[in-house]
Amino acid sequence: MTLQPRPSILTVEPYVGGESKILGVNRILKLSSNEGPFGPPPKAIEAMVAAAREAHRYPDGGAKALREAIGQKFGLDPARIICGNGSDELLSLLILAYGGEGTELVMSAHGFLMYDITGRWAGCRVIKVPEIDLCADVDGILRAVGPRTRMVFLANPNNPTGSILAQSEVERLRAGLPDDVLLVLDAAYAEYVTRPDYNAGEKLVDATTNTVMCRTFSKVFGLGGMRLGWAYAPVGIADVMNRVRGPFNVNAAAMAAGIGALAEDGWIEKSVAHNNAERARVGAALTAAGFHVYPSEGNFLLVGFGDATRAKAADAALKARGAIVRMMGSYGLPQCLRISIGLAEENTVVIEALTAFAHGG
Ligand SMILES: *Cc1c(COP(=O)(O)O)cnc(C)c1O
Repeated sequence: MTLQPRPSILTVEPYVGGESKILGVNRILKLSSNEGPFGPPPKAIEAMVAAAREAHRYPDGGAKALREAIGQKFGLDPARIICGNGSDELLSLLILAYGGEGTELVMSAHGFLMYDITGRWAGCRVIKVPEIDLCADVDGILRAVGPRTRMVFLANPNNPTGSILAQSEVERLRAGLPDDVLLVLDAAYAEYVTRPDYNAGEKLVDATTNTVMCRTFSKVFGLGGMRLGWAYAPVGIADVMNRVRGPFNVNAAAMAAGIGALAEDGWIEKSVAHNNAERARVGAALTAAGFHVYPSEGNFLLVGFGDATRAKAADAALKARGAIVRMMGSYGLPQCLRISIGLAEENTVVIEALTAFAHGG
């Protein structure tokens, strides 16, 4: 017998991140990973530099200062905040703790891929529920839930579609799920949402014992390279997560960066104002060029090109101008590209490249 991992692991396709290089092109516009256009907040950079001098010390395994800073910023109880090495880690902890062999994980058909990847790693049967106009279907999800279902994952807003469920729909979803099913609300793009009825998840976390909200510093705060995320959970789930996480799962530089980022006055406001204006500008221009632009509440746009061949050609046209965006085949949307909102001049390159492409140029 040769050494074998558990069979479900071999059904996993490794996650392929956004590309960052084009052969022969020096100036790259990286619009493939929704990283935010402004780099890290200056206070985060200062804090990381200071942390470098203390790198011989183990970090605070309880992430006390960071949890308090997050709690202060978002009005949440720090005792029920759990920090992670990116929110990806927190998603994994939840799946490994509550899922596994013999259980089912339910997600939306074009939901975030890490739920699928980690679900299979854990041995769950992953059920993908068809969407309506690339938006999660609450009734479909509720119908897919059976006696073996232990978790439902919803990214709200969703990556890569940009779609959002109204708060009333999220509440209807929770109300329709059995009590022994964990609902994970992944709000990686929460800070960008301007709809007045939106709640990133804390309302349901506070009102239930079986709902968790996950957040990240990788998008609006521009700290993807530091790997920093957090979850807000009911007491019982926070306790489980604290039992299974690594004792030093968040490194000291990442914690310092997070605290610095939260202290940067006006950062979210500036990022959101830029995103609203530029997302509208890019969306209008690409619609005028004849492409299908899906409504988005995130810092990216999903753009439909009709079929996979044309999406590939559009991708090549963008690459020829140095712009790297995300192909969507792995999300079951080969006819689409996902384009992050960048700086105004970067977005203008995208608009010009795709407008020329539409005109056959
Ligand atoms: C980017 C993203 C994440 C991952 O965030 P990290 O904190 O960088 O691990 C999680 N969920 C969604 C929907 C995302 O788009």
